[in-house]
Amino acid sequence: GKTVLRELSAFIEDLNLEAGYEYVETPHVFKTDLWKQSGHYENYEDDMFLFDVGDDEYGLKPMNCPGHAAIFQDHSWSYRELPVRYAEDGKVYRKEQRGELSGLSRVWSFTIDDGHLFVRPDQIEQEVEGIMDAIDVVLETFELDYEVALATRPEKSMGSDEIWDRAESILERVLSEHEEEYVVEEGDGAFYGPKIDFAFEDALGRKWDGPTVQLDFNMPERFDLHYVGEDNEEHRPVVIHRGIYGSYERFFMVLIEHFEGKFPFWLAPEQVRVLPISDNNLDYAYDVADEFDEFRVEVSTRDATLERKIRQAHDDRVPYQIIVGDDEEEDGTISVRDRQERQESDVDRDAFLGYLREERGEKRLNPEFLAD
Ligand code: ZN
Repeated sequence: GKTVLRELSAFIEDLNLEAGYEYVETPHVFKTDLWKQSGHYENYEDDMFLFDVGDDEYGLKPMNCPGHAAIFQDHSWSYRELPVRYAEDGKVYRKEQRGELSGLSRVWSFTIDDGHLFVRPDQIEQEVEGIMDAIDVVLETFELDYEVALATRPEKSMGSDEIWDRAESILERVLSEHEEEYVVEEGDGAFYGPKIDFAFEDALGRKWDGPTVQLDFNMPERFDLHYVGEDNEEHRPVVIHRGIYGSYERFFMVLIEHFEGKFPFWLAPEQVRVLPISDNNLDYAYDVADEFDEFRVEVSTRDATLERKIRQAHDDRVPYQIIVGDDEEEDGTISVRDRQERQESDVDRDAFLGYLREERGEKRLNPEFLAD
């Protein structure tokens, strides 16, 4: 599982670095002063793990936002330096009732592929655009089914009509530019700003929270965030909260269902298994494994017939099997078998190696090496 999570994280990291995010790491524990300032203490207290150390009360972070705001606050910013984009694979802790805990979907501790952008009001549109581009890349990579909702101003909310209207129309515009079909959930936005929410649908038709883009006019007030504008006056930035997977753990669960355990090659915990036809071919099998060791490759050493080894690799959902026997050893070739049970013998090792690099690099869902 950790292998899959690391690949998922590296995928987001590539997108983030390309989009100009800076990685940060924030503490898991803060004095409750921070949670009072952020409003979590009054609104979220029942869901937080709080404890005393000496005379002070502390809380585990239920969200990463206040930590990121604290970093932003620590520096004075000019309008030229914005937007500032922070990213963190941020572990958060939420005290769900025991009866509400479930598998990987509702847990006490999970990790958000979190991002917070501190932007000038005139930068909202370009930044939301950028986030939607990254979301598109992720959705296309996994070919997940999803629904999109735009949640607008609720009755109790903060900020002027003008800024809400503008923010909502920006989100609408970006959605239609991305040709997303979406429903408008009137009045369902957060009190601090409108948002776009994606919901994934898994193989069983259940819906799960997916990517989210939320504008926030409140946090900048609470943390007294500002930058110096062209006019030399202090201005409030707007904060954009964004997550693409949402929770790594929950997304992992959705993927397990979605792929029925048959992860695409780039994500598979074990990518290649080398099956020697008999023990006589074991040395050659290890040589081949060495040659492919830029991938996650194992050699099947179990004392079993080839048929059983093939069945085992199939049950373990390993994307590729490399079968080697006397013929292969003599010719220096391999036989390749994939999860669709297509097989080809007399395969050139370099040609297959080159193909695997391509399949991994392009994060392909449909293997193309072997013909039907
Ligand atoms: Zn946030």
